[in-house]
Amino acid sequence: MQAVTWQGRKDIRVEEVPDARIEEPTDAVIRVTSTGLCGSDLHLYDPLTPFMTPGDIVGHEPMGVVEAVGAQVSALSVGDRVVVPFNISCGSCWMCERRLYSQCETTQNRETGTGASLFGYSSLYGAVPGGQAELLRVPFADFLPVKVPHGPPDDRFVYLSDVLPTAWQGVEYAAIPEGGTLLVLGAGPIGDMATRIALHRGIRVIVVDRVPERLARVSARGAEILDLGEIDDVAEQVRGLTGGRGADSVLEAVGMEAHGSPVAEAVQKSLRLLPKKLQQLMMTNLSVERLAALYLAFEAVRRGGTVSISGVYGGTSDPMPMMQLFDKQLQLRMGQANVRAWTDELLALLQQDEDHLGVEGFATHHLPLDAAPQAYASFQAKEDGMVKVLFRP
Ligand code: NAD
Ligand code: ZN
Ligand code: ZN
Repeated sequence: MQAVTWQGRKDIRVEEVPDARIEEPTDAVIRVTSTGLCGSDLHLYDPLTPFMTPGDIVGHEPMGVVEAVGAQVSALSVGDRVVVPFNISCGSCWMCERRLYSQCETTQNRETGTGASLFGYSSLYGAVPGGQAELLRVPFADFLPVKVPHGPPDDRFVYLSDVLPTAWQGVEYAAIPEGGTLLVLGAGPIGDMATRIALHRGIRVIVVDRVPERLARVSARGAEILDLGEIDDVAEQVRGLTGGRGADSVLEAVGMEAHGSPVAEAVQKSLRLLPKKLQQLMMTNLSVERLAALYLAFEAVRRGGTVSISGVYGGTSDPMPMMQLFDKQLQLRMGQANVRAWTDELLALLQQDEDHLGVEGFATHHLPLDAAPQAYASFQAKEDGMVKVLFRP
């Protein structure tokens, strides 16, 4: 089968690899029909490279049609149409019972001290072959895949794999009070979808980014926008728009590659010169992240407000402004999305005739799998009007 593979820093190649197949009686194999490119994939493309091995199959936002099922699978049949959540959760352990699916104790990675395994997401998360491929092995087939009806286009459902539940959880965790304002940092796919979800709930939303076409998309849906490239003091602007106090809630959808943190960016780059083992140690034990967006979140949230972090971070000793966090009496929530916790509610919304969140027009690019090398480069550079790519293997 064809698959998108990681070969080195900024080196993505489409290769012929052995077909995915049933390995456990509880597995299914799906033929992938659409599979997304995510901002999280960009972290593997560059700063998280020490945790990758050449040949790793990447991608974690797939949907498709069931091609084969293991002997113990009863809830799925060949020909069913499914979306596959990015975190691999068993559905029956202590954490899954509490709907904390991104912490599943059956697939947790105790050696690396990380949560549930993820499709296509480095040795930190189980080194499981990913979903940017023609075929994908799906464990826990009776629980994990989300069955969707045949008929509507893939674009209606594919974002159940990651973008929708991540954005939904981000908005839930932001705990926006009645009549309150949500500030969204980052207008990539996650910030954009979170904005749509909040607007759909009747919430006032202000979005910050510096890529004009991304700001234009959220503006067209009714958000107020602030261009990072044109404003010196964004937090001050936000206070000006919110009665002098700041936003009731902030949703951070940027992550460790934020613009505006030159020192950390230099550290991230200098790490590349070290041997792989040492790079891994430095990445996980030092402050190598670009925290500009996170600091802006703490600045721009009002006293007593909530900060919800969807962006991915990976250091263990980042400098945190503890005095500000404490003094402003902030509430913080974060984490990988517990995908399966939100999919029932989301699927019900997606099955209505009206496309409330505009999912069918959300992708800016539909590309064949072999366009992946160029797509990764363009998506990272934010060129070509690229906001969301769906590959069609
Ligand atoms: P993306 O890289 O396309 O979007 C990030 C956006 O932030 C870009 O538009 C960029 O211009 C903007 N930005 C950069 N610096 C900024 C700053 N200082 N202030 C405001 N905006 C800034 O990626 P995406 O797919 O939207 O993902 C966003 C983040 O969410 C990534 O870190 C990704 O790893 C993470 N993510 C988390 C989960 C989860 O489960 N928590 C799931 C998916 C993605
Ligand atoms: Zn993703
Ligand atoms: Zn579990």
